[in-house]
Amino acid sequence: MKSFNLSLLVIIVSTTFSIQVRASDDLVLNTKGGLYIHELKDYDLSSSVFLDNQRLLAIRHKDKNFLIYGIPYNSELGENSLEIKINNDIRRLDFNIKPKFFDTQKIRISSKYSNLSLASQERVVFESNHLKQAKDYWYNIFPDLKFTIPANGIVTGRFGTKRFYNGKVGNPHNGLDIGAEKGTKIMAPSAGKIILTGHYYYNGKFILLDHGMGLKSIFIHLDEILVEKGQLVKKGELIGKIGNTGKSSGPHLHWSLILNKTYIDPEYFLNGQIIDYFP
Ligand SMILES: [Zn+2]
Repeated sequence: MKSFNLSLLVIIVSTTFSIQVRASDDLVLNTKGGLYIHELKDYDLSSSVFLDNQRLLAIRHKDKNFLIYGIPYNSELGENSLEIKINNDIRRLDFNIKPKFFDTQKIRISSKYSNLSLASQERVVFESNHLKQAKDYWYNIFPDLKFTIPANGIVTGRFGTKRFYNGKVGNPHNGLDIGAEKGTKIMAPSAGKIILTGHYYYNGKFILLDHGMGLKSIFIHLDEILVEKGQLVKKGELIGKIGNTGKSSGPHLHWSLILNKTYIDPEYFLNGQIIDYFP
């Protein structure tokens, strides 16, 4: 009888990079681009909460009602207050905005994005007005706050990073960048309604997805858009493919999250971390 040795089988495991979601203790919630969560006592969700004329996100969780307010990045640190209106009651809510460290990033982009021709300037104005109108849309449905990662890849840019484009200071980064090969699938991180798609000068091909009550995602620099305006999508549904269109320096997905018309850090919503913060 022949005896034989089994040689070691080398198993090559293909590695998929995944987003390293920061541990909850590292997160500062009440900060620039963060969130202020307040329990609304003696309040029925059939009424609406307003700040000036803008309706805010109010949601029910474990038999309690909460207001979730997106804190603008350019807010002053320290004591802040909101005067909200519920039915005919005015309530003043006081809260503190805490500091947070944001990195700096230097990026090289094509000069067509730093020196715009007159025609391009006109196009940009038209497109930003159109996008603003879409962002004002109110979709009266409670959002699912347990978001999943919209694409597999590596994080190449985080929310709030101070950015320099070709050496010149630009706006702070207002989303999360996930670098991956062109054609990588983009899935809806939470359910919603597609309220706009297009191919814009800066955004390239993009999708604006409304999750409800002022919470919206925008996905930009896509290679392909696989959904249409008005379409309802489920969490995890394929909506597009990663690309390098518009003001982009390599194939990646830029994902921004907007709440009460303010850009907030999408990472708070990944894996439903936001829910841990409900008081
Ligand atoms: Zn980005």
